Amino acid sequence: MSDLELTAEVAWALATGGPWPDPADLDGDARFMALALREGLNGVGLASPNPPVGCVLVRAGLVIGSGVHTRAGDPHGEVMALRDAEARGEDPKGSTAFVTLEPCCHHGRTGPCTLALIQAGVARVVVGVRDPNPRVDGGGLAILRSHGVVVEEGVLGEACARFHAPFFKHIRTGLPWVTLKLALGSDGSLGPAGQTTQVTPPEVQRLAHALRRASEALVVGRHTIEVDDPQLTDRWPAPTAPHRSFARVVMDETGLVPPTARVWAPVAGQPVFRAVTNEPTPLRGVEDLHLPPEGRGCSLRHLLYELAAMGVGRVLVEGGGTLAGGFLSQGLVDEFHRFQSDLPACGPELILPIPTTWCLQASARWSTGRWEVWR
Ligand SMILES: [Zn+2]
Repeated sequence: MSDLELTAEVAWALATGGPWPDPADLDGDARFMALALREGLNGVGLASPNPPVGCVLVRAGLVIGSGVHTRAGDPHGEVMALRDAEARGEDPKGSTAFVTLEPCCHHGRTGPCTLALIQAGVARVVVGVRDPNPRVDGGGLAILRSHGVVVEEGVLGEACARFHAPFFKHIRTGLPWVTLKLALGSDGSLGPAGQTTQVTPPEVQRLAHALRRASEALVVGRHTIEVDDPQLTDRWPAPTAPHRSFARVVMDETGLVPPTARVWAPVAGQPVFRAVTNEPTPLRGVEDLHLPPEGRGCSLRHLLYELAAMGVGRVLVEGGGTLAGGFLSQGLVDEFHRFQSDLPACGPELILPIPTTWCLQASARWSTGRWEVWR
């Protein structure tokens, strides 16, 4: 249990898989890796399908450059840090680079970071965690070593692995990372059937919006739209990058959500999709995702593959109960944020098919002003 006050900074840390190591509590290599992680936090929700790698360059105990990868096709964190050093009039020759993930060694849309670090004369590279991408997987470290660069790995390794877990999952399974968020009353209920309930206090709403911002797609069930008529927009206060968008996905298998629902209204940068199993009447401005039927709904696994193909690395499922149950019972949830109010929602208790905890990578519960986070 912890008594974390849900400031914007704490909300962002929790939404990105934290809490993260605090540089102020650390010294030596761990302190600079914690700073690199902090850089990386600025790329969450922006860099997919790439990992939001953070990097700081350090010489004589001082940070001379820092960078983060914020958009696929743009330079990676290492190159951004080298450019930052140059902009500050600093020479990276002989410096140490702290990188949350092993530098790449392949020619993708940008040149390999290993080459950029070698050419800049960086003397030592400290890596949080190895990149399991088969095109890297230790190859970046080997190239650096073969050019006489001192390499160390595993500094804050657990935190860096947790930070890059969504990317690792995508590399290993082809699926995006799935976070489930549910707000329940003290009675374990979502509220009376067919009625809107607001039991979540404002500071927890802040975390809810941070979770949206950290995701590239937001998925809700048809009943949530019918009961609450939400727009599902981005209301996180910090400014966003121009290319930033989280897609809105409504599970509306047979097209029952009326065309007047607010979610279908166009929102700049936030496309809206309708997941369907048949050919309902088209809606203007809404793209249909045709999925195979499964049970009384769509194949959720298929939905995740479709989203991955669109470059989505992180998916947020906001409910309701049926959709949450579907994702949980199929073992498709990686992280579960359960907000439990101290007020009853006055409806039937929601019985969730929660798998044994080892299936979930992480679980967080907010209850009467206290947080619990399990990993
Ligand atoms: Zn790279």
